[in-house]
Amino acid sequence: MNLGKISYGGDWNPEQWDRAVWDEDVRLFKEAGIDFLSINIFAWTLLQPSEDTFDFSQLDEIFALLHANNIKICLATSTAAHPAWMATKYPDILRVDHQGRKRKFGDRHNSCPSSSAYATFAPKLATALATRYQNHPALELWHISNEFGGSCYCENCEKRFRVWLQQQYITLEALNTAWNATFWSQIITDWNEIVVPNQLSVQWSDRGTAMQGLALDFMRFNSENILGMYNLEYDAIKAIIPEAMITTNMMGMYRPLNYRKWAKRIDVIAWDSYPSPNHSAAQTALAHDLMRSLKDGQPFLLMEQTPSQTNWQPYNALKRPGVMRLQSWQAVAHGADAIMFFQMRRSIGAGEKFHGAVIEHSGRSDTRVFQEVAALGRELQQLGNKIIGSRIQSDVAIWFDWESWWAVENSLGPSAGLHYTEEIAKYHTAFHDANISVDMIGPDSSLDQYKILVAPVLYLLQPGVNERIKTFVDNGGTLVTSFLSGVADQNDRVFPGGPPGLLRETLGLWVEEIDALPPEQHNTMLVQNAFGSRSNYEYTCNLLFAIVRLETAETIATYGQDFYAGTPVLTRNQFGAGQAWFVASSPDSNFLNDFVQHLCRENNVQPVMQGVPTGVKVTKRSKDGHDYYFILNHTSSTQTMPLEKPMRDLLSGQTFTGSLKIEARGVLVAEAI
Ligand SMILES: [Zn+2]
Repeated sequence: MNLGKISYGGDWNPEQWDRAVWDEDVRLFKEAGIDFLSINIFAWTLLQPSEDTFDFSQLDEIFALLHANNIKICLATSTAAHPAWMATKYPDILRVDHQGRKRKFGDRHNSCPSSSAYATFAPKLATALATRYQNHPALELWHISNEFGGSCYCENCEKRFRVWLQQQYITLEALNTAWNATFWSQIITDWNEIVVPNQLSVQWSDRGTAMQGLALDFMRFNSENILGMYNLEYDAIKAIIPEAMITTNMMGMYRPLNYRKWAKRIDVIAWDSYPSPNHSAAQTALAHDLMRSLKDGQPFLLMEQTPSQTNWQPYNALKRPGVMRLQSWQAVAHGADAIMFFQMRRSIGAGEKFHGAVIEHSGRSDTRVFQEVAALGRELQQLGNKIIGSRIQSDVAIWFDWESWWAVENSLGPSAGLHYTEEIAKYHTAFHDANISVDMIGPDSSLDQYKILVAPVLYLLQPGVNERIKTFVDNGGTLVTSFLSGVADQNDRVFPGGPPGLLRETLGLWVEEIDALPPEQHNTMLVQNAFGSRSNYEYTCNLLFAIVRLETAETIATYGQDFYAGTPVLTRNQFGAGQAWFVASSPDSNFLNDFVQHLCRENNVQPVMQGVPTGVKVTKRSKDGHDYYFILNHTSSTQTMPLEKPMRDLLSGQTFTGSLKIEARGVLVAEAI
């Protein structure tokens, strides 16, 4: 899809309103530069009031109104909440939750992925929609369901899980071996004995299970099974419109679904960004980088963000003036070609009446929020198609693998304080703050284009991963990995010989023990003659402390305290033409900032721009030989920075020579002149 500019709009739910309000909404949309709306998101019962009745009259009217006003449509399929009549007549559509309770009708995201009723009715509705609207000129994009997620533990899911396992393992012997089932006599002697892992069986809580292999396989199965719901509709739509562009909205670092596998079935990535008020700019950037990287850097859609506040956090602070604009441009700076809001008009009742909207309950356009939305709409119109389709180039990749995340957080011990995404975020933040572009890659990604690969807590090694990483380093790449890496195989069985398992040769060391202390208890990292300008420096680290025995690696830093004082906490191994670093603990941000600077210097990895003040972030998107610089001031004061070459801001038309000034929370989209 390409509207000739950055698409601008959001979720519009006219079915909640009288017809007269629709016309007023469209008038306001024109005023705000809105040209792209998601519609039909939760309308299943209106479209299909009974099993044999379809009624598209209202949706026809919505299509006609938007088309007449030159607003393009992202058509959702309405299957994210099933009708009450369906739940009554076909109760197999209701999920069973983690506590083993059968749900009743209500809420959204409520359909069991193994339900035969769902498998009948959802693609039938998608087919009816595709048949009816296939030639409609306003239709740009398909949006299947909405924010897929969760899991189901019903008997149908259990049966399907058994079949899935049988396909994976063929024999029970192979399954029992993979699950190390002799532990606690958990041996399966008949496929029908297998139960889903919830709190009625092996799952102790959200974190920790008696059977790692079972829990890991269920998470794989559940992610695939829910993807199956998407596929039902995807295939139905493509059967009628082979060239249809189809997406569904993801949720960033969302643990239950392995989005890397989903991305293969999605034509354009779309995601919903809801940073908490206390989130750093880097945390939001990480999620954008992850979403962009799912399809090899293809631009994505920011499908939802609030223009002002959410309603589901404990304290729903308003986005301060300028923050919505800044966060919108941040998405574009990291690869978005669409900026969209939830919601266009704030509903008057039910669960989201306190969630922010472009048009508030007042219905007015002279509000702060509406005026900010309209101002951004003017900017996007002015920018036109300049950056549409442009790409970000990165020399650095961070390994982010859902299966390592699942496995390490399903394990009881060694530390309840270990959060996979936080370890990833620490390293990402250091590169982000240095204005170094990062791709977020995983087991299926190519490593060829990268100089540096950072893989914190590379806990689980799928078959072939070790060989690919080894080749990367052997060919001259720089690998950084950390504690709890190389621990387990694809079934979460620890490699004999202990960590780092298959990575031992590449890292040139083995781990004898791993200490785990409360997060507030720190050790020190003593670096000598390693990071250039400062010959000796002391940093802190916490959480986990691998006690390392060196083989071919050399010590770069040592622990300063405890009985392992003087032993290595940072090592480097020359392997082939490359280097492999091991960070044995969870370091502070000062260490990571210095370490990242050192790695980038050694590998000739350059920041996007030099001399960028703290709190200002710069990214670059390129297209047809042109570079576009996104300069974002995340601080609350005006910043000045030097310029190597004169630049023009495409938003204001202002030109800068020698240096540029950027106001608090300001944004420049600049090109060299
Ligand atoms: Zn189910």
